Amino acid sequence: MRFNRRQLLKSVGMVVATGDIAGAGQVRPSAVEKREEQRSLDLSEFQPKSMLHVTETRVERSRFPVIDIHTHLSKIVGNQGGVSVGEGMAYNALPSELLTVMDRRNVHILVNLTGGWGAGLQETIAKYQQINPGRFLVFTTPAWEHSNKPDYPQFQARQIERAKDAGAYGLKIEKILGLYLRENIGAGPLVKVDDPRFDPMWDTCGTLHMPVAIHVSDPEAFFLPIDRFNERFEELNNHPDWSFHGRDFPSNAELLAARNRVFERHPQTIFIVLHVGNNAENLAYVAECLDRFPNMYVDIAARIGELGRQPRTARKFFDKHQDRILFGTDAVPHRKTTPQQIFGDELYEIYYRFLETDDEYFDYAPSPTPPQGRWCIYGLELPEIILKKVYYENAARILGFEIKA
Ligand SMILES: [Zn+2]
Repeated sequence: MRFNRRQLLKSVGMVVATGDIAGAGQVRPSAVEKREEQRSLDLSEFQPKSMLHVTETRVERSRFPVIDIHTHLSKIVGNQGGVSVGEGMAYNALPSELLTVMDRRNVHILVNLTGGWGAGLQETIAKYQQINPGRFLVFTTPAWEHSNKPDYPQFQARQIERAKDAGAYGLKIEKILGLYLRENIGAGPLVKVDDPRFDPMWDTCGTLHMPVAIHVSDPEAFFLPIDRFNERFEELNNHPDWSFHGRDFPSNAELLAARNRVFERHPQTIFIVLHVGNNAENLAYVAECLDRFPNMYVDIAARIGELGRQPRTARKFFDKHQDRILFGTDAVPHRKTTPQQIFGDELYEIYYRFLETDDEYFDYAPSPTPPQGRWCIYGLELPEIILKKVYYENAARILGFEIKA
């Protein structure tokens, strides 16, 4: 039967009318009464329990030994406007406490990215790397407070050489370039990621085979207004200073483009782009960058929440780029109630479950509320050959040593 427009509207109208007539005999609450029946609930108190009856696999130990390329066992104490300054260090956990967790979770090596520079770096290396050779590796960080001095390019390159001599394995660039570092570490303009003053630093890392672990930009939602449409509303509402919306901040795309120019200009330097290339929401873009820049690698730290909510896309990404993906957690150890409960312990189990199982719809972080957004993740069930590469082979190759499985 074919309807013209008028007939169609008429028939739709009839359906609505029929529905109305069917309910006419019942007493219905008015709109006002309905509103009174509804409870209001603060979003922060909403803790829904999934009613899904699905497999829950516990993976207490990884199938292969792990190199965690991304941890923060120490940090520079001094801070000026979000930029770490000085050589004074603070330590988040003792090696003995960490080794307990590492042995239980099959983690062979922790890479401590934030090792500081100068005297601070030497102290960090002595505390972790020298006492426990082969279990802790330390990266150095730039001396940002010198970045406005005329001889900074040469000074920074020299510091990298000194760091190498002291035993540092690589360089870490914190989320400072393009977003926090300003001229004179003050109210001046933001310093760009591809500012030429850093060229000797990137080149020296290439010459000395020190990989650069680099954090540029942040989730796309951090560049949008903190409103009801923002998928990371709770996280940003808890940490409004994490937002890069407005003011004189560059756009996410500008930051990534500047970062890419650095990769292009320094093809001999290896860059481990932390947090899945800082664009885990857009794996097609990250894949395109990996294809363009053979010196680019990524870690998965603090982004299994993103990878695991797009498991089919993520699985293809792992298949295609299996030689360029590194295991990392971004663990910042701190003591809870007992030394055994150091942060990282539960975290490793979740990462292993994500990589190794085909479990469905589980939390991507140990805390009761998902910290990055209200969703759950799905396991990738990676084959052994990819697991080996991601857990340790790729990292070992970049760091220049062998590890026995
Ligand atoms: Zn980190």
